[in-house]
Amino acid sequence: MAEINAFQKKLIEALQAKKVSALCPCCGQNNWTIVDKVVSLPVAEAESVYRIPPPFVPSGGLVCNNCGFVRLHALLPLSIDPKEKGGVP
Ligand SMILES: [Zn+2]
Repeated sequence: MAEINAFQKKLIEALQAKKVSALCPCCGQNNWTIVDKVVSLPVAEAESVYRIPPPFVPSGGLVCNNCGFVRLHALLPLSIDPKEKGGVP
């Protein structure tokens, strides 16, 4: 396993604490690459107002190494601060 940074470690620990299934929902394998930074999931504005940067949900991302399925977990319910060192994209 490749070396992981503090953000990846925190994400793994938080998901394990929540007893999240480690199995891929598409292929059933447990073989993930954990994105090493916060993934910014953009949120559409109700009105045609543009903001830079756009509003987003800070998330932790995992990619299945077998089938490519991408899963995202919002960081807020996991009590992970996206602005902590190592997490900011
Ligand atoms: Zn998979």
